[in-house]
Amino acid sequence: MDLKLRGKRALVTGSTAGIGFAIARGLARERAEVIINGRTEDKVVEAVRRITSEIGSSATGIAADLSSAEGVNRLLERAGRIDILINNVGIFEPEPFLEISDQDWFRFFELNVMSGVRLSRALLPSMLRRNWGRIIFVSSESGVQIPAEMVHYGLTKTAQLALSRGIAESVAGTGVTANAVLPGPTRSDGVVDFLAKVAAEHNTDQAQVEAEFLRTMRPSSLIRRFAESDEVANLVVFLAGEGSSAITGAALRVDGGVVRSIV
Ligand code: NAD
Repeated sequence: MDLKLRGKRALVTGSTAGIGFAIARGLARERAEVIINGRTEDKVVEAVRRITSEIGSSATGIAADLSSAEGVNRLLERAGRIDILINNVGIFEPEPFLEISDQDWFRFFELNVMSGVRLSRALLPSMLRRNWGRIIFVSSESGVQIPAEMVHYGLTKTAQLALSRGIAESVAGTGVTANAVLPGPTRSDGVVDFLAKVAAEHNTDQAQVEAEFLRTMRPSSLIRRFAESDEVANLVVFLAGEGSSAITGAALRVDGGVVRSIV
């Protein structure tokens, strides 16, 4: 299927590693002009180099920390025209509910939710003028099955579902769509680092930690394994393309069956 992404300009937030990098690479394979984002110049340059050398297509990058309005503005000042906005950036860390401070609640909300609010608000008017656009939030199965070990994270992922649906409602009848995707446990760079840390603490290996996590924390997984970042990216790349034009206001799972719902 030709996704008709050639010439479209796509911004993927938090894309120097993990799912974001896989999405950026997938879009570049389809000949979209991709803009990489991460916090440091070094990592952005390296991600752009990897995509350019692997795919041979043009990618550019903008270093900006999206955890504040100033950081988002820095990105916007250099972004230019954007047809496809992938709100991927997000942080996660287990913390018992009773120990989550106000500061942590706001830190999670600011990056996981407000970066997407600020970017969508700034970029939507020009998408509407061109009557074409894609806004995609990378939420999580944790947005519908709130994890006891990180309630603050779950809240931000539910908020993203409301946000993407609300944006879709607000642009009804136009060529702009807004959707959310809900990955399940995925072997991204951030997750691999986390699993390696837990494995070292428990004197075991990463495969054991993964198996134990699925058995105790996500027993409803039907694939019984972590997904790869590319498996999540495949859905996002399809949604970014022309062929997804009748999909909007949707929350689409790519969670290996973790959410036990048939609709
Ligand atoms: P990751 O940690 O592997 O990569 C995160 C990326 O975001 C990196 O490029 C990092 O540099 C960038 N980043 C972090 N903080 C930033 C900031 N303040 N400003 C700009 N860039 C920043 O993460 P991941 O696992 O690939 O997660 C990506 C998204 O997928 C997140 O929204 C996460 O909630 C969601 N998700 C992940 C999983 C999973 O199991 N990996 C499951 C469900 C949903």
